[in-house]
Amino acid sequence: MSLEDTELPRTEDEWRVRLTPEEFRVLREAGTERAFTGEYVDTKTQGVYHCRACGLELFSSDTKFDSHCGWPSFDDAIPGRVKEIEDRSLGMSRTEIRCARCDSHLGHVFRGEGFTANDTRHCVNSLSIRLEPR
Ligand SMILES: [Zn+2]
Repeated sequence: MSLEDTELPRTEDEWRVRLTPEEFRVLREAGTERAFTGEYVDTKTQGVYHCRACGLELFSSDTKFDSHCGWPSFDDAIPGRVKEIEDRSLGMSRTEIRCARCDSHLGHVFRGEGFTANDTRHCVNSLSIRLEPR
């Protein structure tokens, strides 16, 4: 399910009625689900992960890897679908990632950790995405 651009909510109140309270907290208030609790942490199913808010395709299961960090991790995003924003909250300098289409919070991206050849870890909340199995 992918929303048409004309169907995208324009206010936070419109988002609030579309999402569960937990989804709203993560997607629209940049919350973080507890480590190792998300439904996709260990998922190996092949498919495409969509933005849970607007349905845009964000990550292929081909880029998912075991980071053991407690959240689904992808070493690449589908080009142009994820935007990066500097995040200086919690006294740290991190890079927040959001859906390029509906501006919903996905998680953070880390580089230089050496997990994969691409050397990138998109650390994503399960609540921010939905898997469409292939
Ligand atoms: Zn979206």
